[in-house]
Amino acid sequence: MSTSKGLTILGATGTIGVNTLDVVARHPDKFHVVALSANNNVEKLLTQCLEVGPSYAVMADETAAQQLQEQLSRAGSATKVLAGSTALEKIASLPEVDYVMAAIVGAAGLLPNLAAAKAGKRVLLANKESLVMSGKLFMDAIHDNGAEILPIDSEHNAIYQSMPVPHDGKHLNQGVTRILLTASGGPFRSRALSTLADVTPAEAVAHPNWVMGQKISVDSATMMNKGLEVIEACWLFDVETDQIQVVIHPQSMIHSMVSYNDGSVLAQLGNPDMRTPIAYGLAYPERIDSGVEQLDIFDVAHLDFERPDFDRYPCLRLAYEAHRAGGNATVALNAANEVAVEAFLDQQIRFTDIPLVIEKVLEQAASGTSDRLNDILAQDLSSRHAAQDALKRLN
Ligand code: NAD
Ligand code: MG
Repeated sequence: MSTSKGLTILGATGTIGVNTLDVVARHPDKFHVVALSANNNVEKLLTQCLEVGPSYAVMADETAAQQLQEQLSRAGSATKVLAGSTALEKIASLPEVDYVMAAIVGAAGLLPNLAAAKAGKRVLLANKESLVMSGKLFMDAIHDNGAEILPIDSEHNAIYQSMPVPHDGKHLNQGVTRILLTASGGPFRSRALSTLADVTPAEAVAHPNWVMGQKISVDSATMMNKGLEVIEACWLFDVETDQIQVVIHPQSMIHSMVSYNDGSVLAQLGNPDMRTPIAYGLAYPERIDSGVEQLDIFDVAHLDFERPDFDRYPCLRLAYEAHRAGGNATVALNAANEVAVEAFLDQQIRFTDIPLVIEKVLEQAASGTSDRLNDILAQDLSSRHAAQDALKRLN
């Protein structure tokens, strides 16, 4: 029997998807690609399909799917093209799939990620937004269906590596006192506050240490990314918000740390390259070559640490407040952020308007928490409408 693992990559054309294919290509004996998906980039998904020959390719966009099918058939490929959200759920739960890389950006990842969890897959979770929206529902789906969750977000992967084993969610009993969640501080860490209203989308997506998709790059600049990651860490590791200390560490060499009651602090270090957590998640509990250059410790002349400033990063404060308020607020936070970031990238609003839009939407969000999928999706939709209204009122 083959021991090669079948893999679906949701969001194959994105930064994480491309890095995943890079790692997988180094280990043709260990992994084979069963399915790839993308939103609407036909050309890129075509190239990827011709390279790895998956059984299925899914495009969210119907017209794009037709174009892809025509071009693949013309090239003599046997890859079957499907379209839409249910097709994403299908490729996340096929019996021949062992591992699902969850690397769609934003709320669009929620349903396919849940499908993977319900089908008992190993979920390699890059898409933090789905966990922010549905933390309890998602973790229950993992545990109730014998699925596995391996964090791909570099900080959470570092925490996972620094946590006691087995990973059974009872860390408090095993001496864990605190999580130190590191953040680069983004491109505007030392820019004069008075000039933040003028930053352009191009400046905001130019991250100092990591090459990432546009949305997460803007989230890093506002530090909403860290806010989402605080919530993500609470669900993944079953800790309270107060047990998480965000630490600005501009060099991005330490990817996060875990403090223990005996005074130990365990950290994971490495060059900032997502292929390390991807390779870790794919091979766990083994270690495989990821193509990442070894960290030269003598090159790391020094490591700096700073406390985050909520005046500079109001989105971080909003994320803490939303998490304390409950699940409906975190769904609203995520939805409003997605709408506001898109509007900023479209040059409809200023960088400093992003937290204003989110705050307005949070004021209107239902209180409390619901773990029913329909309620989560309804809250997501109504918060997107509220965010659109807030945008109009800004202009
Ligand atoms: P990206 O923008 O580069 O890629 C996003 C992928 O999702 C693309 O393949 C795109 O086609 C697909 N997609 C977008 N909208 C879709 C939709 N509506 N339906 C179906 N597919 C859709 O993003 P990325 O940087 O690769 O990030 C992906 C996820 O991983 C995000 O949730 C991000 O927060 C998380 N993440 C990324 C990094 C990183 O270094 N890039 C690090 C940690 C976590
Ligand atoms: Mg991260």
